Amino acid sequence: MRVAFLGLGIMGQAMATNLVKAGHEVTVWNRTPGKLVDGAGVAPTPAAAAQGAEVVWMCVSDTDAVQEVIFGREGVEASLSEGTIIADSSTISPSATLKFAERVAAKGVAWVDAPMTGSKIGARDGTLVFIVGGPEDKVERLKPLFAAMGKKIFRMGETSKGQATKLAMNLQIAMIFEGFAEALTLATKLGVDSQQLISLIEATMVRSGVVEYKAPFVLQRDFTPNFPLRLMHKDIRLTLEAAKEARVKLPGLETVEEIYAMATEDGHKDLDYAATLTLLEKWAGVQVKGKAA
Ligand code: NAP
Repeated sequence: MRVAFLGLGIMGQAMATNLVKAGHEVTVWNRTPGKLVDGAGVAPTPAAAAQGAEVVWMCVSDTDAVQEVIFGREGVEASLSEGTIIADSSTISPSATLKFAERVAAKGVAWVDAPMTGSKIGARDGTLVFIVGGPEDKVERLKPLFAAMGKKIFRMGETSKGQATKLAMNLQIAMIFEGFAEALTLATKLGVDSQQLISLIEATMVRSGVVEYKAPFVLQRDFTPNFPLRLMHKDIRLTLEAAKEARVKLPGLETVEEIYAMATEDGHKDLDYAATLTLLEKWAGVQVKGKAA
């Protein structure tokens, strides 16, 4: 298929590469010039990339970035023609997604929201899990592209339901990790060995995919970003906004948001979100894996 791929960050670069490897005709664009994908054409603007494309796929930071790329001065909107599909793998606001979709629908263009989970390793290996909202026939047409970049897709309903579900997923990741980090901090302060605590977690119903994935990084104190704290913080804020719009109260997540804000003030925004642990350690006067204080 002829695909315009917009946004070559941690995720987008690897996703576009996998589209090229699967034999699709890809043209890429990135806001900061100089990022390339082997075997893909490069366009100077989003509008130029989208010219003649059957599918415009995006993976940019946030809601404002999506708005800019589609409706900005050199945005995709000018190049849209009837039948084009816009697929958005950025994690953004569900209500903004609906507004964007309504605006392009006037041109006969469908919007499929396709946020994903799987982190940079999943993007590199083509094993992402896509969480999708959009018309069934359009999602069906995108299946060869999903297959090139991921291992599974879950269609959660019509447009915006992918974003809504993604927020509900990241809410859990943020809170499960927070629980793990608080448990490690308390146990360390009380003199319990972290590795033994983790072995116990893994042998009981407390175990989770989040802990399994994060524990080795935490024990090695490797906070290089797999999923940067700034992006998890963005997702937490999006979730709280969506909850407010829907008049849903999320008291646990509100508290976790404050921790992310303080970790950002401490200069950790570009580290992995696991670095929120260091804030708890600072308050408790301990370091996990070290001896109890
Ligand atoms: P990233 O490495 O920070 O890349 C962000 C991309 O967005 C870059 O290409 C950046 O362009 C572009 N961008 C930012 N603001 C823009 C604007 N105003 N106009 C146009 N382009 C703009 O982020 P990422 O990790 O690839 O994540 C991308 C999306 O996927 C985010 O919504 C994130 O929440 C989601 N996601 C990420 C992961 C993960 O593990 N990393 C997992 C699941 C979902 P420049 O190069 O010019 O800065």
